[in-house]
Amino acid sequence: MDATVSPGVVRVALDVPLRQLFDYAPTADSVPAPGMRVRVPFGRRSLVGVVLETAPASELPPQRLRCVAAVLDAAPVLDAATLDLLRWAADYYHHPIGEVLAAALPAALRAGQPALEPPRLWRTTAAGLEALAAGEPRRAPAQRALLQLLGDGLTEAQLAAQRPGWREAARQLSARGWAQRVHAPEPAPPPPQPAPAPSREQAAAVAEIAGALGRFGAFVLHGHTGSGKTEVYLRVIERALARGEGALVLVPEIGLTPQVLARFQARLAAPLAVLHSGLTPAARHAAWRRAASGEARIVLGTRSAVFTPLPRLGVIIVDEEHDASYKQQEGGFHYSARDLALVRAQRAGLPVVLGSATPCLDTLHNVALQRYRRIRLPRRPSQPEPPRIALVDLRAHATKIGLSTPVLQAMERHLHADGQVLVYLNRRGYAPTLLCTACGWTAPCRDCDARLTVHQGRRELHCHHCGAVSALPSACPTCGFPVRPVGQGTERIEESLQQIFPAYPLVRIDRDAVRGRGELQAAIERVNAGAARILVGTQMITKGHDFQNMTLVAVLNADQGLFSADFRAAERLAQTIVQVAGRAGRGTRAGEVLIQTEYPGHPLLQQLIREGYDGFAAGALAEREQARWPPFSRLAVLRASALTAQDPHEFLLQARERAGRPRGLTLLGPAPAAMPRRAARHHAQLLIESRSRAALHGFLGQWLPQLAQLPAARAVRWALDVDPIELF
Ligand code: ADP
Ligand code: ZN
Ligand code: ZN
Repeated sequence: MDATVSPGVVRVALDVPLRQLFDYAPTADSVPAPGMRVRVPFGRRSLVGVVLETAPASELPPQRLRCVAAVLDAAPVLDAATLDLLRWAADYYHHPIGEVLAAALPAALRAGQPALEPPRLWRTTAAGLEALAAGEPRRAPAQRALLQLLGDGLTEAQLAAQRPGWREAARQLSARGWAQRVHAPEPAPPPPQPAPAPSREQAAAVAEIAGALGRFGAFVLHGHTGSGKTEVYLRVIERALARGEGALVLVPEIGLTPQVLARFQARLAAPLAVLHSGLTPAARHAAWRRAASGEARIVLGTRSAVFTPLPRLGVIIVDEEHDASYKQQEGGFHYSARDLALVRAQRAGLPVVLGSATPCLDTLHNVALQRYRRIRLPRRPSQPEPPRIALVDLRAHATKIGLSTPVLQAMERHLHADGQVLVYLNRRGYAPTLLCTACGWTAPCRDCDARLTVHQGRRELHCHHCGAVSALPSACPTCGFPVRPVGQGTERIEESLQQIFPAYPLVRIDRDAVRGRGELQAAIERVNAGAARILVGTQMITKGHDFQNMTLVAVLNADQGLFSADFRAAERLAQTIVQVAGRAGRGTRAGEVLIQTEYPGHPLLQQLIREGYDGFAAGALAEREQARWPPFSRLAVLRASALTAQDPHEFLLQARERAGRPRGLTLLGPAPAAMPRRAARHHAQLLIESRSRAALHGFLGQWLPQLAQLPAARAVRWALDVDPIELF
């Protein structure tokens, strides 16, 4: 037998919801290698897929084995390490491999576009400049406008963003010799800026982490905002670059500000690629290409950047590792980029750094088990003392539209003394309820088990769960009496504070007041320049933004987190309080933090105030252990939804029956979701819990493939969430 005979079949992952690879016969002239894309016939469609394996023969009968239509790549677009990570993820999250691959590839590559072609630039030719000067082209305004725009060159991505429909005009200009398409050279990075001398603690942290370059090690860099964590990342990356290795830096969804980017670019003498969800498909493809080709040595990106192929990757950094945006909650493939970063580091044999002022409890548990090594960064000497945190008992003090007397008095004091005040409330809109005081009617969402939020400025009612918008009624639709908003959102707090403190300019930061990165940036700058003295905001202000001069922070409602059905709510509350409180303090003056609550005696709040985040974490972990919640158990949730309440319940019931009585596992449910009706669909869930990860995954692996065949499966949408971070 000839051992060098080419494989008879390639196994292809396709973006279809089936848990299998598909066999195809290679074309006569080329056998694609794993990681290359192919175009294949699938039913009556033609799909782009990725070859994962080659094999000598297929189990399909020869007449059913179809042929690869085209091989799209000359070299793999996904390297072996990335393929390995994706296969691991498909396995662990029990998700079809084709859909997992689709999450990792830029849309342009999924559509079959050339992978490694550098971006094209369009520019005006000398003849084009002459034509322009002569007033040409006279009767083609679109061509003339494009010719004027092109100048020294614009990439196709820039053209697509600025001038929809540019392609036709460009084609005509090119035919007349007035414009041409060329390869775009990438700008060389500027020489790096000098770094501050590291503190003793920073130097020790860098030495320890960099000492692990070349092998796996998990480090938790635990230090307050401003303690110098980013300085440590930068120095570790420099050490990796010096070894000829690159770095992958993950940041939360809204933590990637122009300042962060500028700081990395200014300090590191290596080309950098940025990947986040706000990019156009073309820009995303270009950044991905630069990373995958090895041209960019550093990737700075949000969640899905964890899947970027990077030749000679040396270190992975996950900043603000506790941030919920690392968990993909939408669609069917629910993954944690933080956890996958650890897996990637482990499998590739490199160090990973998890940075946070408030590491998540699972991370701290791994520190306690000595799986991760914690490195603490103390406050830098130039930083202010930690703020004083005090609780304001809402039952004992009068409130004026959600603002208690002690908070208003403290605000007055700080504003008079030239301080800045941050008011935090995690509820946007004007008021969470529109109420008729005559008959008790409250404006409901038609499609959700939820009330509509009043947005006064826009004269609208919004549903914060399904996005429905309607006009704000002036009278009760059932009895005709006037209606009024009840409760407070940030918009109303803004209005009240403007009335109470008219002399102090105010800025509001939430999803309604600030749209897009540019506006957020402008708002942050107004605060930091001192043009605004009061900042009112939601969760949006807690992430990665450096407000330097806040002297007072007021948390208006801490109680949403204390009594939630979700076992992680208290952890999120504590993280938010610590993160927001970290904004208080100026120069060497300590700041002040006031937290309004109706439960000042709550043990977790007390622990947080008295012993800080570590004390809170110890208490909360002890509670989790008693209740057998993660990290002391492993969870997966099977969620289902349909237009009736009956269908998801029936599906989950059948799924539960199919499970039988698996050993070492507890199945809870089916139960309606915390908000059973959302966006016109009824939601229910089945919780699967186990002490043992192996038992859980062994069970999921044999149970899940059977679910699509259940009689009720066709009536529902369903998805599995392994390691859920929210139970709803
Ligand atoms: P973190 O990432 O923990 O929030 P940073 O690394 O951003 O902290 O540091 C906060 C600020 O302190 C930055 O302006 C940074 O340049 C500065 N800084 C950090 N370390 C030092 C140091 N050793 N000497 C002087 N300035 C420093
Ligand atoms: Zn009424
Ligand atoms: Zn709704």
